Amino acid sequence: MHKQLLKQQVCTAIKEHAVEIIALANSIANQPELGFKEHNTANKIAKIFNQYNIPYTTGHAITGVKGRLSGKTSTRNIAVLGEMDAVTCFEHPLADGNTGAAHACGHHAQVAAMVGCGIGLITAGIMEHLDGDVTLFAVPAEEYVEIEYRNQLREQGIIGYLSGKSELIRQGAFDDIDMAMMIHLSTEGEAERTIQIGGTSNGFIGKMIKYTGKEAHAAGAPHEGVNALNAAMIAMMAVNAQRETFKDEDYVRFHPIITKGGDLVNIVPAEVRMESYVRARTLDAMIDANKKVNRALQAGADAVGAQVEINDLPGFMPMINNPEMSQLFSNNATELLSEQSIKQLHHHAASTDMGDLAHIMPVIHPWIGGVKGNAHTRDFTVSDPEMVYIISAQCMAMTVIDLLTDNASQAEAVLNSHTAKMTKKEYISFMDSISKK
Ligand SMILES: [Zn+2]
Repeated sequence: MHKQLLKQQVCTAIKEHAVEIIALANSIANQPELGFKEHNTANKIAKIFNQYNIPYTTGHAITGVKGRLSGKTSTRNIAVLGEMDAVTCFEHPLADGNTGAAHACGHHAQVAAMVGCGIGLITAGIMEHLDGDVTLFAVPAEEYVEIEYRNQLREQGIIGYLSGKSELIRQGAFDDIDMAMMIHLSTEGEAERTIQIGGTSNGFIGKMIKYTGKEAHAAGAPHEGVNALNAAMIAMMAVNAQRETFKDEDYVRFHPIITKGGDLVNIVPAEVRMESYVRARTLDAMIDANKKVNRALQAGADAVGAQVEINDLPGFMPMINNPEMSQLFSNNATELLSEQSIKQLHHHAASTDMGDLAHIMPVIHPWIGGVKGNAHTRDFTVSDPEMVYIISAQCMAMTVIDLLTDNASQAEAVLNSHTAKMTKKEYISFMDSISKK
């Protein structure tokens, strides 16, 4: 059947199931869960997979759910991803009262778009025309947060890396996948219905930092103490003193939080804990900036005679979008919207673990408008449900059709022109090389 007709049919089918797709999105938004804890979200996805007789497996990197739609032949396997995790934002109107988890990054919409794409492909009978399979993969823990908690999981051997996709790669959950796509919501150009394609973003090294001083009466005998909070403050200033050495084109970011600042106000702080990332545009810049940051962190301790323990943790790789897949997605988005709605992205200083996948296979991570308010804040809300849940699903389904029709010739073309930055083995050894205490 002609590709164009298949695309029309899948778009109609997705539209016909809009109520169901949006209900799933709302249900996930109303029960937000933090990374590696998305058990209710995973159950909701499994329930829909059951309803549509989609074979699936669960428990990938704790909560991941992996479903598979079989094509006429199974030459290639394209993954459509949706992230399940929320961020912490107690002030968000839909935040969980206990944990503060809220879908203030819109990952609930990614799951809805992924499921919507799958429902469209099944109910329109598209799969029997495709020379390849489609993996619908609900993935955990994109947000790199609660570092201490995750590091405990790591020390217990429950996970090896601290984010969903890196851990899924390590576990081999992407070994059977040739390429992947996922949408993300964007607050850029919120008034318009825009889709942003391509571009790159920063990678980072994760850090846990602990200053150990000596407690003493804060007023009666401060001379007998060693103030760990002063050590941390000097360290942060020492990092600031190096910012002029970071090159503009490297987009270096260091943004620590203090997770423990002392015990009681009348005791000299004996233990101070910090979490941070060192982000940059390239692996070399990440490693270079991290050396300087560690030097500064040590200087804070030395200045007051405290001890510092720096725990460097594998974070995210810089993001790269596959140009051929981006072009296919962009063409499809143009059909549904207009040429003016499609924007080309440049570099972004934030990070995504889609970058990890991008280092071992072709991927795309387009940004979809239709939300208001900044990401990770109380104001973040979906303002255009059609754009966010339906058009995003339609664009992905149409791109799958492009890739897997005509003996999957487009998928083969993407793979032929693609040179992976790393093999999986090289990726694992890079990630392991970052871990240092
Ligand atoms: Zn996000």
